[in-house]
Amino acid sequence: MLSVEEARARILAPLRPTTPEVVALAEAWQRVTAAPAVARLTQPPAALSAMDGYAVRGTDAKEGARLRVVGAAPAGHPWRGTLGPGEALRLFTGSVMPDGADAVLIQENASAEGDTITVNSAVAAGGHVRRRGQDFAEGEVVVPADRRLTARQVGLLAAANHPWVVVHRRPRVAILSTGDELALPGEPIGPGGIVSSNSHALAAVVRACGGDAVVLPVAKDDAAALAGAAEAARGMDLFVTSGGASVGTHDLVQSALAPAGLRVDFWKIAMRPGKPLLFGSLGGVPLLGLPGNPVSSLVCALLFLWPALERLSGLPATGAPVTRATLAAPLRANDARADHLRGTLDEAPDGTLRVTAFPRQDSALLRLLADAEALILRPPHAPAASAGEDVKVIRLDRLGL
Ligand code: AMP
Ligand code: MG
Repeated sequence: MLSVEEARARILAPLRPTTPEVVALAEAWQRVTAAPAVARLTQPPAALSAMDGYAVRGTDAKEGARLRVVGAAPAGHPWRGTLGPGEALRLFTGSVMPDGADAVLIQENASAEGDTITVNSAVAAGGHVRRRGQDFAEGEVVVPADRRLTARQVGLLAAANHPWVVVHRRPRVAILSTGDELALPGEPIGPGGIVSSNSHALAAVVRACGGDAVVLPVAKDDAAALAGAAEAARGMDLFVTSGGASVGTHDLVQSALAPAGLRVDFWKIAMRPGKPLLFGSLGGVPLLGLPGNPVSSLVCALLFLWPALERLSGLPATGAPVTRATLAAPLRANDARADHLRGTLDEAPDGTLRVTAFPRQDSALLRLLADAEALILRPPHAPAASAGEDVKVIRLDRLGL
């Protein structure tokens, strides 16, 4: 059986970032840049005052000096003259520095009397002046390609005069739940039936990673229904199925899609929860077959769907960030399958992060997964661990997943 790391590498191998599209800056937050954004102007556009006060010549602005105020230049209203010796110009934060001036005497350090000010504290050349281009210059790259845009970068792009941004198209992901027992939320539920929680949970994972999710109607456990549903995945960037991924009699994804040309790369991983994980391609569309058990499905989505979406989005496929926490209670030795234990987090009195695994780890317990704050990563054959030892965790409480 494949390790989690090998499986991830094989899933990522055929995936390519989506093609670029242009979006308005107002729509660009959280999108992934597909080209470097180059400043379309220089910022600041001219030397500007950083304070309210007076533009002066540093050589004039000695303590006790008296200067004549020759005018005023509010921000956005430059003064067109040239400041001569012994002169000062009233200005404000963001005002353009007049020619001839090289410093700003802040108003707190000046006493005004009619047209005259007295310098109460000297200012040297350059004082309180924002140099032209000190933030960025026209032609400089302000945001590189392949970055998910933060609010701060959106602000920077606006400052650099970008009304639009070139971004990767959102990955389109079709989501298909399979099972005779399933209905979508709100649909009539058959005898002994359950509601398909995976369809919407997986769609939320896709959206959290910046993709567009299309939730297909549930497919019954028969070959024709599955093959028909697969048609709807044509043209998608990724086809995600849930359930029916192993080779039980009713686990049909492989057998039903084989005639349609399913090429299977692998279908078993040495991990828990979620051994039956299928990866392959169907008509050129990568297919990720997740297990049906809700916890397995979501843990596999976190470990495999997340980095797959990162790759499709144009981002480095780093996956969910892994950090460390201290065990609050001991753990048993692990077997040959990598384990992903659900648990809660708290902060010890000394500030260290502590993690406690739930006593029950059944992969059908969705409520415990929803309540979990961390996944504890237990490598294959990890020895028993005592309280106080460090373990690797994925912080679910930080991910919005
Ligand atoms: P399967 O992988 O099809 O053998 O399903 C394993 C278990 O997960 C069964 O108990 C199914 O009823 C359950 N299951 C399958 N698909 C879903 C789904 N979309 N939502 C919730 N539970 C599911
Ligand atoms: Mg099933």
